Amino acid sequence: MLSVEGIDLFYGDAQALAGVSLTIPEGAITAIVGANGAGKSSLIRTIAGIECPRAGRITYRGQPVQGRPSHEICNLGIGQVAEGRQIFPTLSVLENLEVGSHLPRARRRKAASLAEVFGLFPRLAERKSQAAGTLSGGEQQMLAIGRCLMGRPELIMFDEPSLGLSPALVEQMFRIIERLNRENGLTVILVEQNVAASLQLAERAYVLETGRIVMSGSGAELLNDDRIRAAYMGI
Ligand code: ATP
Repeated sequence: MLSVEGIDLFYGDAQALAGVSLTIPEGAITAIVGANGAGKSSLIRTIAGIECPRAGRITYRGQPVQGRPSHEICNLGIGQVAEGRQIFPTLSVLENLEVGSHLPRARRRKAASLAEVFGLFPRLAERKSQAAGTLSGGEQQMLAIGRCLMGRPELIMFDEPSLGLSPALVEQMFRIIERLNRENGLTVILVEQNVAASLQLAERAYVLETGRIVMSGSGAELLNDDRIRAAYMGI
């Protein structure tokens, strides 16, 4: 569905991604794991068209997308739930969700999308008139996911969805991602520092270290790999 080939990304003189290549199969959950500063967010932001790579190719459903503006990439069906949620705190829950349906691909299906999002997150329906900034951390994360779903993505990229959530909410967040994949048929890229949980969920995974892919395999293979267990799980 998505192929990334030989991506180099620089911030000024500092190289954040070096020759990164990966393939994202349709219908699967693919995890990208790695330590703080490894380049995970940079990779997601590059696929989303927010950062412009110096070299490499990104192909979505056979068409090159690198260098295209982010709204065009969103409109192709690549959605992103950014790190830190980035909702609009003074807008209501409903207004935040409506922002997500402004994409041309999603406009006409706004009512159906809203019903789906409220079905998935009944808490958002209960609080639809409330200012988004007054929601709890977990509810804000649900809103960020809901807003992305309003854009009718086919591929959804999650950047650290568990960040700052309590253990019970982290568990709930992973179940939601699993459900979006299994029941709603969304292809998922999951970027996480929570390595064990994301490898359990993912069919395929890549390990990013200082801007390079150093290992890849099935989630189960990496979960049982001694180097991964020692480096990322403290086992
Ligand atoms: P984290 O989990 O901390 O977000 P990450 O794996 O997502 O880490 P990135 O945020 O992609 O890593 O950062 C990769 C490298 O690029 C880091 O060295 C970081 O300091 C640097 N970096 C990220 N964004 C910028 C920026 N806008 N300008 C300059 N350097 C940046």
